[in-house]
Amino acid sequence: MPCIPDHINGVKIEFADSVKNSVDQKVVDALQFIISEDVATGYVFTSAYISSANDQHEYPSRHVQGEGKAVDISRINGMKMSLFYSKNASVKAITNALQNKYEGYEHKRENFGPSFKKKLGLPHTVSGHADHIHISVN
Ligand SMILES: [Zn+2]
Repeated sequence: MPCIPDHINGVKIEFADSVKNSVDQKVVDALQFIISEDVATGYVFTSAYISSANDQHEYPSRHVQGEGKAVDISRINGMKMSLFYSKNASVKAITNALQNKYEGYEHKRENFGPSFKKKLGLPHTVSGHADHIHISVN
């Protein structure tokens, strides 16, 4: 299985110790599609922290289905979304930009986070996700 690289389009990718970063190729492609230094106009995206990939969650989460079809991002530029989304303009802008960009990815499925929660492009009700972006692929 492919691995999530440690740099994507100039952005450093950091991993929680517990993360198994071998995932479906579509997840790697999704991250390549959404992550770039200039994803949010006026802000520089320098690092993303991946708190979960092919691990941790229990079935039927898409994190453990098949080959790892989901990934969670919980920090932007070293700042936890849980603490900084509401009070730091760069964290908010970059988080929103990543979620918005993911809506344009052809294999998108779930796109949950502080900005909105959508599944297959439609509003979706699910608890949590104020502290991280969860994206999954079909
Ligand atoms: Zn997740």
